[in-house]
Amino acid sequence: MTNETHPTFDIQIEAPDISPYKQGNTGVDYISTFDSGIEGPHVMISAVVHGNELCGAIAVDHLFKQNVKPLKGKLTLAFMNIAAYESFNPSDPTKSRFVDEDFNRVWTNEILEGPRDSIELRRARDVLPILQQVDYLFDIHSMLISNDPLMMAGPKPKGRDYARKIGLPKYVISDAGHSNGTRMRDYEDFIRPESPKNALLIECGTHWKQKSADLAIQSVYKLLHEFDMISDELAALFGPKEADLIDQIFVEVSGPYTVQSDNFKYASTYHGMEVVEKAGTVYGHDGDTPVATPYDNCVMVMPSLNIKKGESSVRYGRIIP
Ligand SMILES: [Zn+2]
Repeated sequence: MTNETHPTFDIQIEAPDISPYKQGNTGVDYISTFDSGIEGPHVMISAVVHGNELCGAIAVDHLFKQNVKPLKGKLTLAFMNIAAYESFNPSDPTKSRFVDEDFNRVWTNEILEGPRDSIELRRARDVLPILQQVDYLFDIHSMLISNDPLMMAGPKPKGRDYARKIGLPKYVISDAGHSNGTRMRDYEDFIRPESPKNALLIECGTHWKQKSADLAIQSVYKLLHEFDMISDELAALFGPKEADLIDQIFVEVSGPYTVQSDNFKYASTYHGMEVVEKAGTVYGHDGDTPVATPYDNCVMVMPSLNIKKGESSVRYGRIIP
């Protein structure tokens, strides 16, 4: 049951105690790098870019507890927005997404090297020298209202190729992010076509659901297996089963709808990935202005709730081959 101001959430998972990982071995708190000593890619698995998205912390904690070390290349395990994660409170779980600002909207050199200050920017500046060494980023998230897990492959074909290599989840979203700031997965070389560096952001499903945590765990073992960094046995034990690897559907986002007022309301309930058949279908109101789909067979990607002026309410997508 919910009411207007204090919705009740179904919290099925717990925030793991990550304090044992604070010390790390990189000189940056909560970041550890394991070097196999054998040539291979440097893969970073990143958790809690958003402090209340527990599934990533659960997956990285799982890797630590299993004492997973790379058979080749380097593996970096990183907990990102520690201040927000530490403020997580199951009785008010949406509050701890960030402290001062969204950690996943600050990733341009202009902002990182600029004069602005916040808890998140300080942390971003601390982790940046390690992020810059990474060949493949895998950044784990979850969502407030969307049911279907999504792989956010970024704007370039190389991101889609990386998503194809991982082989799950079903939906792969190709998109340029948000109008109010750049995501870590879109930082510099990760989206430069001429660079071999690559990044994915996985949205494992709804926040705090057991199955989101299950997918986060499966996906990291699948990732490491695809890079030959773990044994077949370990991948078979904790990775996805054959039945989990279904045909992927690729959706290219044409752009977000950026809200113009502080009073955006949906005309009906959207959970994401609905295909709205007719162009011009009104799906919400921005203040008094009706907002309609821009083209036929428009996929509604990641609808948000409680959207403020200047933020994305939903992104429009087209299914691509
Ligand atoms: Zn997130």
